[in-house]
Amino acid sequence: MTSPRASLAPADFVALLREVLPATDAAGAAAAYPLHEPSLGPDETAAVVACLQSTFVSSVGAYVDQLERDLERLTGAARAVVVVNGTAALEVSLLLAGVERGDLVVTPSLTFVATANAIRHAGAEPAFVDVEEETLGLSPADLRRFFEETCVREGGGWRHAATGRRVGAVVLVHIFGNPARAVEVQALCQELGVPLVEDAAESLASFVGDTHTGRFGVAGALSFNGNKIVTTGGGGAVLTDDEALGAHAKHLTTTAKRPHRWEYWHTDVGYNYRMPNLNAALGVAQVGRLDELLAKKVRLFDRWCAVFDGSDVEVLRPRAGTRSNHWLNAVRLPVGTSMETRNAWLDAACDEKIFCRPLWVPMHRLPMYAACPRGALPVTESSEARIICLPSSAHLDRGGA
Ligand SMILES: *Cc1c(COP(=O)(O)O)cnc(C)c1O
Repeated sequence: MTSPRASLAPADFVALLREVLPATDAAGAAAAYPLHEPSLGPDETAAVVACLQSTFVSSVGAYVDQLERDLERLTGAARAVVVVNGTAALEVSLLLAGVERGDLVVTPSLTFVATANAIRHAGAEPAFVDVEEETLGLSPADLRRFFEETCVREGGGWRHAATGRRVGAVVLVHIFGNPARAVEVQALCQELGVPLVEDAAESLASFVGDTHTGRFGVAGALSFNGNKIVTTGGGGAVLTDDEALGAHAKHLTTTAKRPHRWEYWHTDVGYNYRMPNLNAALGVAQVGRLDELLAKKVRLFDRWCAVFDGSDVEVLRPRAGTRSNHWLNAVRLPVGTSMETRNAWLDAACDEKIFCRPLWVPMHRLPMYAACPRGALPVTESSEARIICLPSSAHLDRGGA
């Protein structure tokens, strides 16, 4: 599948990108190609204007409820609770899973920084485990090794031997919309007796079998940031199949106020994490167009696959038995590709206003997370120089409407 070196020169790479990308934008001007732009049309404008005209732009309103019901229908989750962003959704998911101040939470180093930040916001400390090459998601074998080799059983759970911290949860991350090995990680967490939480920020409308990502553990977090497949401007949602936990998530994220006609009685230190109705209006319109966006995404993915077919550059594909939303298309360069080669490809593309992006710097190399416990990370380390993300906006698809 791979040869020992990248056979394409940077200019060849850019020429292949040009085969897929339209030469001009909708107005006929020479185009620039951001990594991912939102797709906004008349439906979005109408919904936001209607919300403005209703005057219910803030903390209450019909769009918040409608978006939550739409997300429940789409994901099959018993309860969806919309919040201000995906990072907050993940923090709340960790609290629902019972994560406590001082706990350790096991997660991949290969993820967006928000995963580790949410763990710290919940008062816990991340511990990093390697990913598998196929999905770029947590490797079940490495996860098991982390527990068996560095933790000891205590009561029904586990304690990390070197730090003395209780292990509060495992966070599985689905990268670029391609589902990770959720079934295997779910089974392992059940066997270990450790709660599972999913960072499904990138994987709205991605499924493992018939189960939506974010539904394999206690709770899962979605993001509707401006660069995700569906946007509310900024926003996120907590998914859970436990009605009581769903009600608790709603309570906690809306200042923990006891319902009453006029009294201000709060039961906990709550959060003001509620999604404003104005943002929810945009979300309702976007979710209404999700099938159209998904169809465009899959056609764009097919075109990227066709263009790189026969080269030693591999387009990342969803695992068999899973369905991807194809949020972000990415290629993997051959084994042994150097950072210099990767950077030359990125520079050549950026020179043409094709804004390809590298993989995130892994968490264990960022200053605030460098001292966190971690297992061996060979796949994480070797992926950094090999992955390049390609422009993936839905409107780049020229195949359809
Ligand atoms: C986008 C993203 C988040 C955070 O979502 P925000 O809405 O930006 O807070 C968390 N994790 C991953 C993997 C993401 O891609």
